[in-house]
Amino acid sequence: MIENIPEAEDLEKVALRLYFNAWTELVRLCGISDVAVYEAFGYSDASPEAKKELEEEKQHLLQWSQPDLQVIYTMIQQSLEIGLKAILCRISPFALLLGSDIRTWPSKPKDFTSYRSIDAADLPKAIASLSDTPLSEEFVQSFHEFRKNRNQIAHIGVFQTELEPHNLLKSLITQFGELYPNKNWIKERLKLAEEQISPYLTHKRYTETTMLWEELEVVLPIIENKHYKTLFNISKAAKRHVCDHCVQEAYAHDAGIDPVNVRTAVYQPDTKSLNCIVCGSTVEYMLRDCSHADCNGKFTGKDYWEEEMCLLCGRNNESPIG
Ligand SMILES: [Zn+2]
Ligand SMILES: [Zn+2]
Repeated sequence: MIENIPEAEDLEKVALRLYFNAWTELVRLCGISDVAVYEAFGYSDASPEAKKELEEEKQHLLQWSQPDLQVIYTMIQQSLEIGLKAILCRISPFALLLGSDIRTWPSKPKDFTSYRSIDAADLPKAIASLSDTPLSEEFVQSFHEFRKNRNQIAHIGVFQTELEPHNLLKSLITQFGELYPNKNWIKERLKLAEEQISPYLTHKRYTETTMLWEELEVVLPIIENKHYKTLFNISKAAKRHVCDHCVQEAYAHDAGIDPVNVRTAVYQPDTKSLNCIVCGSTVEYMLRDCSHADCNGKFTGKDYWEEEMCLLCGRNNESPIG
């Protein structure tokens, strides 16, 4: 009997583990190049000389990030390959042996790893032929590109093309929508965040929500509408409000995250409720216009210190009711 026949769920878990490890590292790099440099030096008000300096600093950071980005790149490629294998395995684990020369097979049933498995380059073709949910042309092209470049990094150790963290981040989001169309990104992210031990070793008050929040603070401003749809199933234009439950869960104040940067509650007109896309809870609110003229917030709640706060702009109301 053949032993250790793989299961699709196990392969998928490994693929997602690689995916979110790459994700964490990428978000960190995006945070360094954008937020740290641009925000710290107030890019918009900067003089032409200062802007030039910042641009040079950005280039310098990008160059410095290349070795890290190459490691991340190989992680993404590996994640893609295993993710595709999981799709094939769901059809039949023996589909993973397609295309291998039967003469290389053991003469009697052995451990599954003794059999040569399908060439990674053939995975999209095999899935196209056998699966009811075909992969898009763009995804297949991008997969081959990742494979080709990853081989250069792994086999030659040199990769001349400059990698850019934002583009890789957007590519990761698209890949999730393609490989895991029935999975909820936030749920998967939180599940995998529990497994990543290192952040928990450095902070006392740290939860999977803290990790997600640290990432969303960087990611929310820089991704496009279609990425919002894939990750959160909302439009980028949707008004998002502060979810008090998540603020507490993330220990946002201990982590130095401004709750306004990670607003996650969206108003549902049919139920007249503010529902959080992260924790699923319903946020309590009073119907009261924000007291600040530049904000059209209509929902008021309580902040960390129990003060009346506009749930849209996060500022305290200037003349609270009580
Ligand atoms: Zn929440
Ligand atoms: Zn407001």
